[in-house]
Amino acid sequence: MTNCLFCKIAKGAIPAVKVAETETLLAFLDIIPQAPTHILIIPKKHIPNNLALDPVDKEMVGEVYLLANKIAKEKGIDATGFRLVTNNGPDAGQAVFHLHFHLLGGRPMGWPPG
Ligand code: AMP
Ligand code: ZN
Repeated sequence: MTNCLFCKIAKGAIPAVKVAETETLLAFLDIIPQAPTHILIIPKKHIPNNLALDPVDKEMVGEVYLLANKIAKEKGIDATGFRLVTNNGPDAGQAVFHLHFHLLGGRPMGWPPG
């Protein structure tokens, strides 16, 4: 998608601090971190949000969870704990309509979220 911020980041047209990259995924630092570790994991392919997932994306979603584990270990937040969150639609506060998973950790987080 030409006017999508995260598509532009995936293509390198807008800079981001990359944390990890695979054939299908990119992980980069969130520009306004909400925790000491706040990383976004996105598919390189444009998918607006969770609702837009297709059965062909099943493997990619599994890869997101495995990459999150790898990054959590590298960042040293695997033992202390972390959160993997996807916001969908207005009530969840989705601001960027390219599927992304927030990987948050490094501080205690309340539940339920505000
Ligand atoms: P969401 O509310 O789930 O759509 O989250 C969008 C996230 O993207 C927010 O946490 C923003 O801080 C983050 N964000 C927006 N623009 C950028 C950018 N250029 N680079 C990295 N993260 C960004
Ligand atoms: Zn996109």
